[in-house]
Amino acid sequence: MGLELRNITKRFPGVLANDKVSISVEPGEVVALLGENGAGKSTLMNVLYGLYEADAGEIFLDGEPAVLGSPAESIESGIGMVHQHFMLVPVFTVAENVSLGNETVGRFGTMSARAAENTVRTISAEYGLEVEPSAIVETLPIGLQQRVEIIKVLQRDARYLVLDEPTAVLTPQEVDELFVIIEALKAAGKGIIFISHKLKEVLAIADRIVVMREGRTVGETTPDATTVDELASLMVGRSVELVVDKSAAQPGKEVLGARSLTVLDDRGQVAVDGIDLSLREGEIVGIAGVQGNGQTELVEALTGLRTPWAGQLTIDAVDVTSASPREMFDAGLAHVPEDRQRSGLVLPFTITENVVLNRYHEERFSSGVNMHWDHAEQESQRLVTEYDVRTPSTSTTMSSLSGGNQQKVIVAREFDRQVRVIVAAQPTRGIDVGSIEYIHSRIVAERDAGAAVLIVSSELDEVTALADRLLVMYEGRFVAEVDPSVVSTTEIGLYMTGSSDG
Ligand code: ADP
Ligand code: MG
Repeated sequence: MGLELRNITKRFPGVLANDKVSISVEPGEVVALLGENGAGKSTLMNVLYGLYEADAGEIFLDGEPAVLGSPAESIESGIGMVHQHFMLVPVFTVAENVSLGNETVGRFGTMSARAAENTVRTISAEYGLEVEPSAIVETLPIGLQQRVEIIKVLQRDARYLVLDEPTAVLTPQEVDELFVIIEALKAAGKGIIFISHKLKEVLAIADRIVVMREGRTVGETTPDATTVDELASLMVGRSVELVVDKSAAQPGKEVLGARSLTVLDDRGQVAVDGIDLSLREGEIVGIAGVQGNGQTELVEALTGLRTPWAGQLTIDAVDVTSASPREMFDAGLAHVPEDRQRSGLVLPFTITENVVLNRYHEERFSSGVNMHWDHAEQESQRLVTEYDVRTPSTSTTMSSLSGGNQQKVIVAREFDRQVRVIVAAQPTRGIDVGSIEYIHSRIVAERDAGAAVLIVSSELDEVTALADRLLVMYEGRFVAEVDPSVVSTTEIGLYMTGSSDG
């Protein structure tokens, strides 16, 4: 009995994403697949779901070799997948989305709306997956949209369910609700592969834990036989402690000010809704919130990447409302961007080229059209040493550095000058724990040197550890300001969903 992946190998150009990975799950069992970003979890599951063809390895279903060459074949074999990014049609109802899934399988043809709604009700009742069948999907909170995905999978008679980082988009309350649902699925005999990089979650829900690191399975254990510390060191390859060492903040005068700031998103909808923000010297302000509540647009406006629709922005009392990113840089703003690969770096360029990217106009690096490469080289060498970038040389291209070291290069480039204000979005996403510790300590050092710091992160642990003051953003507004040293996760979670007003 059970589902088994044996020695799966999958190579992408330049990356061995899965290196002889094995994992199995029995009916009625929850197996957690734990690993940092980039460990190869999604790749393995995409092989199982027939989206990728493995270079080697086998899959067995109830002891028999299974050929899963396409999602249709996987579904037919009883395997269901809830992807990291939902695949629902936003303008359709819950019932339409569920029956749509069915049509693509082509088993029942079109369903009447009534029949589809009844199907949803039956499955909802059976597994505690409450959701209104006639609701339009885009009007539902993310937690409910996720239920629709699960219902879709169950409606196709899945016996094995893969949930790929299902909690990444959820509030703490929604996570608790999801866990109740997972328990119900397990009780009904479903086999579940639960993917996460969050240790506490994995310990709370799994019967068995399989740890992946750099494309390999590096350990297998059970929650009662392991600890958070042990899992963390398995996951990252050494023992770690995610505690930020800092003294109490000594805030001074305002550096960055936003008054009645309104920012539109790409579709012209209000994403940031008339907020006020005052960032002072010597403090770290955190912004917590579920992704998609205006944080991205706010950061873009603060860093000159998106012009505000209304309101005012100042740095040291000088108006910078419509300043360009370059003008923001010159005003003393350092930006650690959310998407390091897109907005931070030029991957085919060397470290040296990247560190002088936004300073090429400085006299020490160029006169007219001539670059002073020797000076750039010296500078780059100094930064690599000072910012602990692990690299064979400064002429190494960015693309061959690990995520953590790429992030250190950005931090070096942005911090190594008179910084007035730092805006960091998800500054440690997808990087190793050693680099996380280092970047956190650098941020605290900048604060203590008088910078005003804004940290935007959907990782609650990160913002509560780093921030001196925490703002919760919900639907484009700050709905609460709390003291991160005393507030509970539950309380923040309530603010994050708008269920409680500050
Ligand atoms: P995880 O889900 O554990 O975060 P992934 O399976 O998404 O990890 O990625 C594993 C590795 O494979 C990463 O280095 C990633 O960049 C690479 N990778 C994933 N998908 C592709 C793809 N379609 N093409 C090239 N490389 C990929
Ligand atoms: Mg993934």
